[in-house]
Amino acid sequence: MELKLDFSILKTLTELPGISGRETAVRNYLKEQLAPYADSAHTDAMGNLILFKKGSSDKNLLLCAHMDEVGLMIHHIDERGFLRFVTVGGIDPRTLLAQRVRVQTKSGALLGVIGTKPAHITTEQDRAKAVGVKELFIDLGLPAAEVRRRVEPGDFAVLDRPYEEFGDGMICSKALDNRAGVFVLAELVRALKDPFYNVYAVFTVQEEVGLRGAVTAAFGVEADVALCLDTTGAADIPGCAPQDYICSLGGGVGITALDARTITHPVLFELLKKCCDEHQIRRQIRIAPRGGNDAGAVHLSKTGVPTCGLSIPTRNIHSNVEIVSRQDVESTFLLAYLAAKNGLNDINL
Ligand SMILES: [Zn+2]
Repeated sequence: MELKLDFSILKTLTELPGISGRETAVRNYLKEQLAPYADSAHTDAMGNLILFKKGSSDKNLLLCAHMDEVGLMIHHIDERGFLRFVTVGGIDPRTLLAQRVRVQTKSGALLGVIGTKPAHITTEQDRAKAVGVKELFIDLGLPAAEVRRRVEPGDFAVLDRPYEEFGDGMICSKALDNRAGVFVLAELVRALKDPFYNVYAVFTVQEEVGLRGAVTAAFGVEADVALCLDTTGAADIPGCAPQDYICSLGGGVGITALDARTITHPVLFELLKKCCDEHQIRRQIRIAPRGGNDAGAVHLSKTGVPTCGLSIPTRNIHSNVEIVSRQDVESTFLLAYLAAKNGLNDINL
């Protein structure tokens, strides 16, 4: 098939702010863009956006991608107007030092900088010590009274980094986890015509804090089979041994065999590999004993759903310099598209 993904949509998606539980901007954008391509669209009480496309069979396929990104929530404003925050989702505080953020307030977004003591006044011992989130603060460059007027505890902040393409087909941005998966699912909703399955395209909330949206989203769908589209940490970098890579950039879609929350149904696992091999789709096997994604919640819904996580390898995951390969995004799209369009034979579970 001819493959034409519009990566400018991925750029737009990465620029939208949406930490866990605050996905409104992402959801509104998706609803506006995709509702015309769906037979129905609704948002559940948790905030999951659920689009439905009628298929030619009586089988239901649930495709999900989480909208939320890791980020910060402001919990204290000090007497000089510096903001203190908690992290939302798994962020290594070392990656926050000396970074830019965008604080989302009722009167719009404010640029902030996570301050750091200059090297001139730190000691060697200071520098050898890993920084903790309690030692970090956001500097808005505003007088304290102005900060207090514009910012409230409960406001959130996202990492700030422009989307950039570089190197050999690589993309660097904040929030590629999981706007890359959201992008694949959004493009799929647009491209899919007359699918075999009744397709439920579900954009979930609160994955980064424990797969919370996926619990209620899956409950609301009578799924026969499910695919969860997400990024996964690629540790194919210096200092990591090949057996610890999990996935490699450029190696194609990561078909999950096992992670901390799932062991993929063996029949589904084989069918997905076969589909890739028949259509020359680049693939790799993902085994991540410490990772998990929405598939962990979806496969345990009701009496159980054969579910597989399709993963886009991502370097520097949960930082503002996440890197994915365009080719891997395309492989992930192709596999999910063909599964939805043609059906996965023998899934009679
Ligand atoms: Zn994710």
